[in-house]
Amino acid sequence: PIIPDYLAEALRDVEPHTSGEPAGYIPELAAADPERLGAAFAMIDGEVYGAGDIDTEFTIQSISKPFIYALALSDRGFAPVLAKVGVEPSGEAFNEISLESGTGRPLNPMINAGAITVHSLAGVEDLNPRERVERVLHGLSAFAGRRLEMDEAVCASEMEHAHRNLAIAHMLRNHNVLTEDPRAIVDGYTRQCSVLVTTRDLAMMAATLANRGTNPLSGEQVVPEPVVRQVLSVMFSCGMYDAAGDWATQVGIPAKSGVAGGLIGALPGQIGIATFSPRLDGHGNSVRGVSLFERFSSDMGLHVMEVP
Ligand code: GLU
Repeated sequence: PIIPDYLAEALRDVEPHTSGEPAGYIPELAAADPERLGAAFAMIDGEVYGAGDIDTEFTIQSISKPFIYALALSDRGFAPVLAKVGVEPSGEAFNEISLESGTGRPLNPMINAGAITVHSLAGVEDLNPRERVERVLHGLSAFAGRRLEMDEAVCASEMEHAHRNLAIAHMLRNHNVLTEDPRAIVDGYTRQCSVLVTTRDLAMMAATLANRGTNPLSGEQVVPEPVVRQVLSVMFSCGMYDAAGDWATQVGIPAKSGVAGGLIGALPGQIGIATFSPRLDGHGNSVRGVSLFERFSSDMGLHVMEVP
């Protein structure tokens, strides 16, 4: 088993890295076992290789952002989504309360302002908050190839401390980027972030992006190919919070991280990669996850700017 052995060895090498802290601003996440560690590769033919805790569930958090962006683009078409959310890297932290001057448009869908707006655009027509959450859960499940569930405790815990996201949503409502009750949208967005996934699921979700939008297991075309190109491009330039430039140069794989410790990368036509380790660096990215991806990229020549 060459690949599982390789993955197991990579995990052993990062295990001593104990710097960083699990996200503290959501009490339920702060209680996560910081030693959890897993890595999985999902090939576009549906084969999954993994090592470590790849079947442990944790909340998807910001890794939901590219997938809900994909759903919104696919449900609504490009123009209405681009009219509300730009594609420019912000170079700022994920929860920065910054909007494009003049229009009030969020800079990109990977920061919270953009993701909260994108959440409001899921569904082919305007849905009520409950239907929208159902669309989001259904869509994330289609990317994973199995029915996912929500962690109500993490969701409730985050909602109690969601003042910053509520402030962002009120700003968006003030600029008419959002047209509904800001609290209902933040509630839905927080539910979206609270969907439970495993490292195996995340690798398969990334493989669905790598496989032109078709889930390798179910064969379902979840979103069309032009949507995938858009999503991977935005992940490449904006997926790693305010460390996106370092990531693009050093790792060179379209990626997205989440504050529960998950990290995904998708290489078009090749592979979906996911790692899980809850301790985060100062940017909010998983310390061991970043180090694993650096290794995968250099060992296997995965940087997209490198001739394979
Ligand atoms: N639910 C989190 C928030 O909006 C997601 C953050 C993240 O994973 O970056 O604050």
